[in-house]
Amino acid sequence: NADKRSQILTINTLAAKFYYYMLKSEKGALAYHYLRGRELSDNTITGFGLGYSDKYSDSLYKYMKSKGYKDDILKETGLFTFEEKGVHDKFWNRVMFPIMDVNNKVIAFGGRVMGDGKPKYLNSPETKVFDKSRNLYGLNIARTSRKDYLLICEGYMDVISLHQAGFNNAVAALGTSFTSGHASLIKRYAKEVVLTFDSDGAGIKAALRAIPILREAGLSIKVLSMKPYKDPDEFIKALGPEAYEERIEKATNYFIFQVGTLMNEYNLYDPSEKTEFHNKVADMLLEFEDEIERNNYLESVCRTFNIPLDGLRQLVKKKGLNY
Ligand code: ATP
Ligand code: MN
Ligand code: MN
Ligand code: MN
Repeated sequence: NADKRSQILTINTLAAKFYYYMLKSEKGALAYHYLRGRELSDNTITGFGLGYSDKYSDSLYKYMKSKGYKDDILKETGLFTFEEKGVHDKFWNRVMFPIMDVNNKVIAFGGRVMGDGKPKYLNSPETKVFDKSRNLYGLNIARTSRKDYLLICEGYMDVISLHQAGFNNAVAALGTSFTSGHASLIKRYAKEVVLTFDSDGAGIKAALRAIPILREAGLSIKVLSMKPYKDPDEFIKALGPEAYEERIEKATNYFIFQVGTLMNEYNLYDPSEKTEFHNKVADMLLEFEDEIERNNYLESVCRTFNIPLDGLRQLVKKKGLNY
């Protein structure tokens, strides 16, 4: 089994090189143009080992066969689809992102269409060497960062853009939601995380789902808003690294973020909705067992969202007695 794992890793490395050389060849001209169009430098392209899977849907397979690899092991790499009609490369005509583990081993790939085709991203399936819920894209580099916190974003391009802009502590959970496996992995390298997800509804939802998981692992959490831009990649492109750094400095405490998103669900001009909102906030505050901590959050929430302090304090006390 250990032998199989190392064979798969060897094939993955070969595939990454194959894709990389393809990108630099004539066939890869459009893909290279696409990446340059997204403002990635040659250094960045090389640093992340980006590549291109060409239009013929069996070039990688033929290449691996020419190297003497048997179908049995090729099947286990997730790089091919085996059908009765024949074998095909899983990735074709896509920009390729090799996914590395913390030891810089290529464990999987992501591939993006150049344009509006679907699916926009295609990822390797889980294999003997790729456990989606225990790996983070970019962590092989971010782990060497001098900063004591990690930036967590949604996508490949966000990680790459952030690194290129000097934020080499960015990572992403890819095509999967955040798990406790991710959280304990992070715990090995940082005490604090700054969530920098997309500003759309999906990104906010993803942040709300990630928070309790990260809390469970004992990590401090802050949240950035990328508004009015879609994601860190577009934010950095539009406003530059200094503006992003400023957002980090002004990052929102996770609890304030949670209450803020909750507030958006209520019409505060309606007294009964407003009361319900206050009740929910009181419930959330009761989750803090430490009295001083609870009081600090109470004060901060009231100040931020214009809630009468004495009223909410009484409400929390009353609810607390009923526990
Ligand atoms: P780009 O900037 O290239 O359009 P993005 O990262 O902004 O990409 P999103 O649509 O915001 O793209 O998706 C965030 C991440 O979710 C992607 O980077 C990718 O890892 C994953 N993802 C997106 N679409 C798919 C998909 N169809 N299948 C699997 N994973 C996906
Ligand atoms: Mn998105
Ligand atoms: Mn995005
Ligand atoms: Mn994007």
